Amino acid sequence: MLLSCGKKVLLLAFCLSIALLSPSLHASNKIRFIRAYNNKYVYLRDVARYYGMKCYVWKGMVTLSSKYTKVLFYPQKKAAAVNGTKIILSFAPFVRGNDCFISSKDFLSTIDPILRRGALTKHTLRTIMIDPGHGGKDNGGKGVYAKEKSLALQIGRRVGQMLQRKGYRVVITRNSDRYLTLGQRTDLARKYSADLFVSIHTNIAANKAVDGIETFCLAPAGTASTHSKKTVWKTSSGNSFDKNNMNIAFQVQQSLINRTKADDRGVKRARFFVLRNASCPAILIECGFLSNKSEENKLRSTWYQNLIAKSIVEGILRYHSRIVSSK
Ligand SMILES: [Zn+2]
Repeated sequence: MLLSCGKKVLLLAFCLSIALLSPSLHASNKIRFIRAYNNKYVYLRDVARYYGMKCYVWKGMVTLSSKYTKVLFYPQKKAAAVNGTKIILSFAPFVRGNDCFISSKDFLSTIDPILRRGALTKHTLRTIMIDPGHGGKDNGGKGVYAKEKSLALQIGRRVGQMLQRKGYRVVITRNSDRYLTLGQRTDLARKYSADLFVSIHTNIAANKAVDGIETFCLAPAGTASTHSKKTVWKTSSGNSFDKNNMNIAFQVQQSLINRTKADDRGVKRARFFVLRNASCPAILIECGFLSNKSEENKLRSTWYQNLIAKSIVEGILRYHSRIVSSK
């Protein structure tokens, strides 16, 4: 069934030096690409070889695996997983004949920054800006008991205190129930020369059964936001932190899901103002749904807020270890 899509695909196969895709990759390792669906796609088996991984198709999944890493792709679906953590690709992979393809944008902006430290820009990580969402006249989402603005502040303060204990310089965009525009938040990050921007929110949905955690980073140029109806935003740019944005989002989401066992809604892309205008790598975390009774109760509790904060800090520490190592 998976092979049937091949007819729709106009294939123009090119053999391309990997150096053309990414100057930092080794020139002798060829990753071929094709054009399909008005886009450029790369052979997954070439990608696997590049990372020294095995590539095989089983039960409708395409798996790339090595001793420590397993990446799962589901043809025709944007959801993928790296070591059990969900990531939402910009374009769905597809199978044709014996080969599976992922978009070159997903390879370079999503997979490579997670699998290869060398893909990341090294930078100082000393000042971290914590941004509790909403505040003042802007309540954000509302549950039965809790308001998003209050929970975001409580969790943000906990994250800030834990980071300070780890030796970071922490700045918080608001430390009280006051209103700030989105522009004021990114201006503060610039003013304090933040090295990392972490915006904290909670979610809400019409369906009260929906729960779980998701982490957003900026959609790279030429890709749509995860929840956008448009297929491609050709004119919208990403930023110079695209790869680092992806890695910090992945580390934080993985840590959050591993520790809280919440439903994994994945690492997603968006063009939220604070992500678009951040002067440093930036993420926005949706810590859970206030519209879900049990998740609201957890989010109001001290133990769960501490668990969320600890997970976010752990994700930041993991990211930090990756941007100082050149391996
Ligand atoms: Zn919010």
